Amino acid sequence: MGKERKRRVGIMGGTFDPIHIGHLILAECAYEEFHLDTVQFLPSGNPPHKTGRTDGAADDERLEMVKLAIRGNPHFTLDAEEMRRTGYSYTSDTLTALRTRNPDTDYYFIIGADSLMALDEWNRPDIICRNCILLAAARDDLPASEIEGQIAFLHEKYGADIRLIHSPDIGISSTKLRAWFREGRSLRYYTPDSVLEYMKQKDIYGENTGL
Ligand code: ATP
Ligand code: MG
Repeated sequence: MGKERKRRVGIMGGTFDPIHIGHLILAECAYEEFHLDTVQFLPSGNPPHKTGRTDGAADDERLEMVKLAIRGNPHFTLDAEEMRRTGYSYTSDTLTALRTRNPDTDYYFIIGADSLMALDEWNRPDIICRNCILLAAARDDLPASEIEGQIAFLHEKYGADIRLIHSPDIGISSTKLRAWFREGRSLRYYTPDSVLEYMKQKDIYGENTGL
């Protein structure tokens, strides 16, 4: 019997508050370089490391912005699973659920170098590493030697399979975009026009947000 190629699904997790070109270009680079069949965007529900923030968008607004941003790209999809859950949402739980549901799919979890450096503090890194291949991208000018050191460490500790995505290091973050929005600066080209329109229309990051 011939070996069938397993389905390869990329997972682009994030808060996406708001989604920006850093996320979109990263996902597209991973899709291309690793011959993925699709990339699922997975907005986090209630990220443990981001609770207590008051300047962010509501869950349904983050979801809508992701929807608008990926519209028109046939190999990008949205997975709202983590948002439907109440309480904390852990990547380890999500990956376990996905693998159980689709045992014949290989999952490629896409992360920036900042997240990779913090991965050992996430919930159950052992489960994460067992259930996916990690695709890591340069970010924040983090030296390659540090990223490689972390890859070796996670491989040693958890048997992690981590590969580097050769994507450009785009020095932008949602934190910067939220601040610029409040300052009235132009966000044009940092996120798709449709997302920008939505942000403006709903004044998502206006001065009174969350107060
Ligand atoms: P915030 O400033 O609110 O933390 P963010 O821009 O870091 O937002 P997240 O939603 O936290 O966006 O990131 C989701 C994932 O995308 C993380 O793995 C993060 O490392 C990665 N990522 C975000 N922006 C970039 C970027 N410019 N280049 C590479 N990876 C990025
Ligand atoms: Mg971040």
